[in-house]
Amino acid sequence: MFINDILILSMKEVYNGYNDKHVTGKELRELFANCYYCDGRHHDSVRDLTISEYLDFLGIDDNKEYRLFINEYFCKVLNYETDGDIGFFAYLKLSERPAEKYVCPKCGKNLIPKEGKFGIFRSCIDYPNCKGIVNVSHIGSYEDIKRFGYRENNIYARKY
Ligand SMILES: [Zn+2]
Repeated sequence: MFINDILILSMKEVYNGYNDKHVTGKELRELFANCYYCDGRHHDSVRDLTISEYLDFLGIDDNKEYRLFINEYFCKVLNYETDGDIGFFAYLKLSERPAEKYVCPKCGKNLIPKEGKFGIFRSCIDYPNCKGIVNVSHIGSYEDIKRFGYRENNIYARKY
């Protein structure tokens, strides 16, 4: 279709040099195992939030297909059916660091990622009954990745 052709052409322009892959939600989780969410001005602040948690937050379904644009440095995930933006880029790669387990400081229930005016944080699953939150701390930068030469072995992810 004409409209689709236009869409695909403009995608190719924007993502020149990327490989376009179709992957399931399950495959996305495997690809981003041990990876961390990134934000900040240049998307180079690595946060203590695993991509696995972030994929849950985005509502990624293990059995659905997604479009993944990926090159050596980063990727972007789109909804396969609509080409709607799922909303994060990912760099390849950072460190394998055991994920911290956090619980609500007020009631002890689980926390879930949320995005607010000042970025991402963890909020009590029982919100609005409980207003407990935990900040998502900075655990590394792009400079750390370059300095420690982690790029070959690990992944770090950034929201675009
Ligand atoms: Zn709570």
